[in-house]
Amino acid sequence: MERGILLVLSGPSGVGKSSVVRALTQRIDLHFSVSWTTRERRPGEIDGVDYVFVDRTRFEKGIEDTDLLEWAEYSGHLYGTPRRPVLAQLERGHHVLLDIENEGAGQVKRAYPGALLVFILPPSMEELERRLRGRGDTSDTDIERRLAVARDQIDEARAEFDHLVTNYEVDVVADEIVSILSAAAGR
Ligand code: 5GP
Repeated sequence: MERGILLVLSGPSGVGKSSVVRALTQRIDLHFSVSWTTRERRPGEIDGVDYVFVDRTRFEKGIEDTDLLEWAEYSGHLYGTPRRPVLAQLERGHHVLLDIENEGAGQVKRAYPGALLVFILPPSMEELERRLRGRGDTSDTDIERRLAVARDQIDEARAEFDHLVTNYEVDVVADEIVSILSAAAGR
């Protein structure tokens, strides 16, 4: 059986990544990889569905035991992709979707060169700022910090990612990613 494709999706905070993930899973049969994290559960999040919430000791044990395909520290918390479920799904011929930040995406590409790295760009930095402010729960200093991080991430992504797509509209960008995946699967 053909192995599935490992699709890695990254993009700056505020770019609308979770809406794109939702639109993608509605369009195609994708296994969404549930990450481990040491951050607090947010209201509405379900343990084992959105994330597997673990403490630092458990996470560090996972790193030691090479249970993680990649991991990174982001905003003071650890995030990582459990290796075994991802590889099992790929072997069964299923495509697997990782929603992870840049550093982890680079690690995946090094460990697994067949992975398809897609980075979601905002239409412009002004639009990204508008979207971040629109959330209403973020302070000015936090917005400045996120915009600076976004600029660095975009520069890195231009060098490291296989495809960069612009999120003008969720449905359009989701269709674009489906085409990229289909082309890769047909090779
Ligand atoms: P949040 O805390 O807002 O859910 O996620 C923060 C960031 O961590 C997002 O950019 C998200 O893509 C990233 N992230 C989530 N899971 C993982 C993971 O398993 N590994 C890495 N490297 N980043 C992750």
